[in-house]
Parts: sequence; C-alpha cells; structure tokens
Amino acid sequence: MNETILDQLAEIVGNRLLTDVDERVSYGYDSSFGQYMPDYVVQVMATEEVQKIVQLANTHEIPIYPRGASTSLSGGPLPVYGGIVMDFSQWDQQLDIFPDDLLMKVSPGVKTGDIHQLAEEHNLMYAPDPSSSIICTIGGNLAENAGGPRGVKYGVTKDHVLGLEVVTAEGEIIHTGGNTVKNVTGYDMTKLLIGSEGTLGIITEATLRLIPKPADTKTAMIIFDDLYTAGKSISKILTSGVRPSKMEILDQNAVNKVEDYAGLDLPRTAAAILLVEVDGDADVLMKELQVIQQALLEIGVDNVQIASTKEEEAKLWQVRKLVSPAIVESGYTKISEDATVPLSKIPEMFRKIDEVKQRYNLNIVVFGHAGDGNLHPTINTNMRDADEVSRVEDAVEEIFHYAIELGGTLSGEHGIGTMKKPFFPKETGEAGMLFQKAIKQALDPKNILNPGKIFPEAGEKRLVLKND
Ligand SMILES: Cc1cc2nc3c(=O)[nH]c(=O)nc-3n(C[C@H](O)[C@H](O)[C@H](O)COP(=O)(O)OP(=O)(O)OC[C@H]3O[C@@H](n4cnc5c(N)ncnc54)[C@H](O)[C@@H]3O)c2cc1C
Repeated sequence: MNETILDQLAEIVGNRLLTDVDERVSYGYDSSFGQYMPDYVVQVMATEEVQKIVQLANTHEIPIYPRGASTSLSGGPLPVYGGIVMDFSQWDQQLDIFPDDLLMKVSPGVKTGDIHQLAEEHNLMYAPDPSSSIICTIGGNLAENAGGPRGVKYGVTKDHVLGLEVVTAEGEIIHTGGNTVKNVTGYDMTKLLIGSEGTLGIITEATLRLIPKPADTKTAMIIFDDLYTAGKSISKILTSGVRPSKMEILDQNAVNKVEDYAGLDLPRTAAAILLVEVDGDADVLMKELQVIQQALLEIGVDNVQIASTKEEEAKLWQVRKLVSPAIVESGYTKISEDATVPLSKIPEMFRKIDEVKQRYNLNIVVFGHAGDGNLHPTINTNMRDADEVSRVEDAVEEIFHYAIELGGTLSGEHGIGTMKKPFFPKETGEAGMLFQKAIKQALDPKNILNPGKIFPEAGEKRLVLKND
C-alpha cells in the first residue's frame, strides 16, 4: 500500500475507504473461483467520486476492479492484479421512475429485484430477470449483459437500456444513448459498453426501458421419458406460433436434487421436465398452451400438466428457483457453466453432456434457459480431489468446444471474466480477438479497467479452478 494513494483515496471517499486485511480479504472473491487480495477498497456513492478515483488510478497506473454484489459466475470482479476494488453495492439510493416516458433512472448499486418491484407498482415491467435478482446489482447486470428466464421472449439486459452515464478510463464523464427508444446518433456505445465486463468504462447511471406488465401468466410442466425428445420439443414449441415468456428445463439429476431438497412431488423417473410459461391477456393463455400441446403431440409428447391455480403455478416455478440451492446442499463445490447452442442443436448438446458425464465419471446436473439454448451444465465436485478437479477441467473444456462446434457460444449470460478466457480465441478466432483488443486498447490505453479479464494471457490454455 502506498501512503500517498491512501491519503488521496481517503480525501475522496472518507471512511468509505477500507484498508484492514479482513476487509480486503472479503473483497477478493466472487461466486466463481479464486481468491485475490486488493490493495484498497473504496465504497463509491457519487459519479464525482468515481471520476476522481479513476483519474488518480490513471495517473499512477493502478488497476481498478468494479464490483457490484459479486454474484458473478465467471470471475468478473476478481482483483487479479490487486489495485483498487470499487464497490458499488452501497450506492443504491437512486431509483427514479418516469411512467409516462416508460423509463427509470438508477444508480449502479440498485438491486435488480428493487427495479422489478418499483416497475410493477406502476403496472410496468423491467423485463431482464436474472435468477440472482434479489441480490445482484444493475451495474453488474449491465457489465455482464445479464439474461434470465424471460430472455426467450424479452431478450437480455442490452435490449432494455436506453442510455448510460459512464466514467472513461481517463476520468471523463460521458453519456451514451438517451431517453428515447430510437437513437441513431453515431455508434451504439450503449450496446458496446453493456457486456464489456467493466473493461471499457465504469457505469455510474443507467436509463432503463420499461414495458407494460403482462396481465396474466399460465404455466405447464411437460414430462419427458428421454432427454433427446426433451431437446427436440424446444424447437417444436418455439415454432408452434406461440412465444412462451419462460421455458426452463431440468434434467433427471436436477429434478431429483430438488425433490431430495424440498419434496415437491416431482416425477423422479422422468428423463427431464420442461416448465413453459405464457403471458398476456388471461383469455388467450389457455388457448396458447393448447397450441403448444398440439404441436408436442406431433412428436409423440403427451404428458403436459397445466397448473390450474396460481398456487400450483407458483409451486412449479419454485422447482426452478430451488435448483441452485438444491445442488449446493447436495454436497461439494458447485461449478456452473452456461454454454449456449442454437435451438436445433439442443438435443445434440444434451447427448454430448451425457456422454462426457459418463466418460469422466462426474456428477453433472443440467438445467437452464431452454428457450434460448442456454444450458447450465453444473458439476458438483470435491475440490480437494486433484484427480477429480482435473477431470472436471477436461470435461468443461470439451463441453465448451462442442458448443462452439455446434455454432454456439462459450457464454450465454455469465460472461467470460477469468473463467473462460483461455477458450476465448476458439470462438472469436485470432483476428476477431485482436479486433476486440483494439477497442480495449483505444478506450483504456493503460489497461487500468478490470485488467486480466476476457482476453487470455500469452500461452494461457487451461481452465484453472484453483489459484493456489
Ligand atoms: C444463484 C445465481 C443465479 C444466477 N442467475 C443468473 C441468471 O439467471 N442470469 C444471468 O445472466 N446471470 C445469473 N447469475 C450471475 C450473476 O448474478 C450476474 O452475472 C450478475 O449480473 C452479476 O451482478 P453483480 O451485481 O453480482 O455483479 P459482480 O458479480 O459484482 O460483477 C460482475 C461484473 O460487473 C462489473 N461491474 C459491476 N459494477 C459495475 C459498474 N458499475 N460499472 C462497470 N462494471 C461493473 C464487475 O467488474 C464484473 O466484471 C447468477 C448468479 C448466481 C450466484
């Protein structure tokens, strides 16, 4: 730690500068893997504070690691080169809604769940709904371009943002986009910054787009005898003429883990279950589910159970919500991936994951946002068993490579961070990676914003689950 830097940071944020070892240790991890030690932690609560800290860091070439609620599953906020962790979680005061303009203006530390709640109080909806929404921040969602179950109908975070206030790597305050849905003045910097994982600029305010809240929802559970047909049914439903608002899949292992955990009378012998929600005018919802039922009959799927009450519907969605806690509870470490493939390739992806699971003798659970092709193969593993960890690494690498071969992607929503960077060029190609690096170089020439993320270091080839 440098005393001059400490004094200057203290001048900017006062007692929101944290320097004790125990405090710094607790800012060294996220929801993925690896523990690092930042030199300084600042809890920022104003754009001017961010600006002054970035100017200081830029002058002294100190890395800055923005951090929301640290629910990243890809290593996004990890302070891999020490430096300054910029904690946004305390800056959650600004939550201003403008119902007549169908927009909301928020500070970066606001929780996504609070945005949902305020929008609904005005009969409006902020559509992106990561499953972590009660704890994660909008700043983290913007940086990761977060998705969620509603992505199948409403898209992801970038589809619902009108504008941003951003502090650049050189400490300038800029505004992108504005307050209108239509805005084609120059490059679309809003979309470039969303999903840039805190590497191109620091977001200090967002203008979010709201839409009318759907009047009602209805949900069906579809039960499958084999995983391949479950995969095939996804394209069948999405081409039936109905657009579901959610479409979530759980394989047999996931169903059984939830059943062990919560005892919800789930069909333990099913190869998979699919939860399908439709939303909109109450009068048409049953008809839409019948259209889906009819389409599924054409491929021999007839076990469709429609929730007849709101309680039954809530119970079905509880099943999906409990998958993560059930996996955590079932033992050892949970490694969550989010390889994503084109819809028609989902059956092949299921087949591959099953084959990898047998070959490497691993406990893999598959669930995820089926309607986006966004699967979460999740592995329970004993991190003290070096041989098992090595098999996990090989299995994950195979799954990623296969997703790319199928025309898919390394990440549907969790981002690249530290966890997937060794595989990044496999998806983009060398020239594609250099093109992206050129943007980083132009906007952050001293590489102070979240360095060590997205792009692999020279020779970096393997997934590293442990950094000790
Ligand atoms: C149980 C669970 C369920 C999840 N479900 C989903 C899901 O359904 N969909 C989904 O997409 N993700 C999901 N996630 C992943 C995670 O919640 C998201 O990536 C979320 O967007 C991270 O938000 P956060 O506030 O925790 O940010 P962090 O984890 O703290 O940071 C994430 C990234 O954002 C950057 N960042 C944070 N604030 C700013 C800022 N103001 N300016 C610039 N960069 C910033 C950080 O540097 C980092 O790169 C889940 C995670 C968990 C643990």
